[in-house]
Amino acid sequence: MKTISLAKVRDQIKDLVQEANFVLQDDVLAVVKEMEKKEESPAGKEVFCQILQNAEIAKGEKLGLCQDTGLAVYFVEIGEDVKLKKDGGLKSLREAITEGTRLGYGEGYLRKSVVEDPVRRKNTGDNTPAYIHWELVPGDTFKLTFVAKGGGAENMSAIRMFAPAAGLEGIEDFVVETADKGGSNPCPPIIVGVGVGGNFEYAALLAKKALLRKPLGSHNPDPFYSDVEKRLLERINKLGIGPQGMGGRITALAVHVESFPCHIASMPAAVNIQCHSHRVMSFEM
Ligand code: SF4
Repeated sequence: MKTISLAKVRDQIKDLVQEANFVLQDDVLAVVKEMEKKEESPAGKEVFCQILQNAEIAKGEKLGLCQDTGLAVYFVEIGEDVKLKKDGGLKSLREAITEGTRLGYGEGYLRKSVVEDPVRRKNTGDNTPAYIHWELVPGDTFKLTFVAKGGGAENMSAIRMFAPAAGLEGIEDFVVETADKGGSNPCPPIIVGVGVGGNFEYAALLAKKALLRKPLGSHNPDPFYSDVEKRLLERINKLGIGPQGMGGRITALAVHVESFPCHIASMPAAVNIQCHSHRVMSFEM
């Protein structure tokens, strides 16, 4: 049995959300630099230079990589053998994550991007609530992954419930069509998370999980889906949208696909789009 202090979780999250918003992680930087070399359009190349320059300034001056510092989305893997220590005035893990988010976004002067009701739209003022996905796992693992999810890219995401007869071709066309429809809105070069299978809500979750894969641009271990990823990246990069929609060869930095068993009558597919400001970080305790 491992004991995890809620106060420590809160404090680590406070630092994590700031670091993720200030520092473009090495795996993302590596892909940006690699793709910059492949870009041929002068305007596209210039956008890549600006992305790299922006990353340097953000890191050096502790400024947000983007003004949209996103919804605070978390994936938490918690072991069945983990005991939570209710310290620091905190009564639950949800409260620790919420507090860490509130403190981190406040201390880092990160934009507060959450409204308390989707229709009446009053800002909650502290970037909470956090959006938390829980996974109970065997053992004493405690792993938390944070992703700052900006609105521009999230808005260009899509889900479709295919009949199985649509086949892989139907799914691939849907992913390319979704990237094409997004155009410049999700601030390309984008990252494309694809969830295939599961059911309606599970496909969407898979697509978001696909975005979290590290390092960026690594492939699904199943050669079938790894080929799908390569094919989709090539097709999306032939769309000509280019960096920030200025035209060019590089519209996407990476495509990650995750799959899950599904019902005999259905074949759901979801596409979660992420922008080049790909702010994902984890910690384990
Ligand atoms: S889509 Fe990404 S880069 Fe564009 S404004 Fe939103 S967070 Fe920023």
